Amino acid sequence: MLLTFTCNLCDARINSIPFDELDRETGLCPRCGANVRVRSIVHLVSQEMLGKSLEISRWPKNTGFAGVGIGDLGTARHKLAEKIDFIEADLERSCAGVPGTLIDRADVLVCSEVLQHVLPPVQSAFDALIKMIKPCGLLIMTVPYGFETTLEHFPNLHDWKLVRAGGETVLSNTTTSGEKETFSNFRLYEDGKLEMRVFGLEDIRKALRLAGFTEIRIAGGDHLAYGIQFRNPWSLPITARKP
Ligand SMILES: [Zn+2]
Repeated sequence: MLLTFTCNLCDARINSIPFDELDRETGLCPRCGANVRVRSIVHLVSQEMLGKSLEISRWPKNTGFAGVGIGDLGTARHKLAEKIDFIEADLERSCAGVPGTLIDRADVLVCSEVLQHVLPPVQSAFDALIKMIKPCGLLIMTVPYGFETTLEHFPNLHDWKLVRAGGETVLSNTTTSGEKETFSNFRLYEDGKLEMRVFGLEDIRKALRLAGFTEIRIAGGDHLAYGIQFRNPWSLPITARKP
């Protein structure tokens, strides 16, 4: 069965995608390329800013609403900037110290598909995120997660590099105490980023609470009018508020 829906980024009217094929990373808009995850982010920003879900083209201009984006936002990065005061930030750099221009900046901070890649300890990333958000502002985050305890692949990462050895690429690490570690079984994403961990949902909740977030919610509802449907209970978007 084909589903008819509107892309909330570009207004394309889409009736070529089978209902069964809609999922987090699929259901790509033929015009702008937005997948279900990106459309759900736009939906959540709209809900936060306007109290209802509208296509970006129907958002008012000059609301003074400020957004910060981190990670894989697809074409949303350009579309959001057409209607809100939107800038992008680098989380890895901000872990070492959030730039003054980003402190308390965001009414809404979108962090998508980044937290699995940042260097350990990952708590410093959650601590940096909350600093960029205004009081009462909202974090919208997506990251792959399951329901087990978080699996940190390289908990002692310190001075490390990828090297070729014996016909394969290995990760060579020297810990802070000078111990040498070598890993040969790891996941590199298509963009060359290393998977540092596989999150467990409860550990995400704990990290958010420890950073100071409240109102932590799973935001995985389906909104078929915009072609938003998640077929699995894991890796759904999460929202959390800075008090
Ligand atoms: Zn589109």
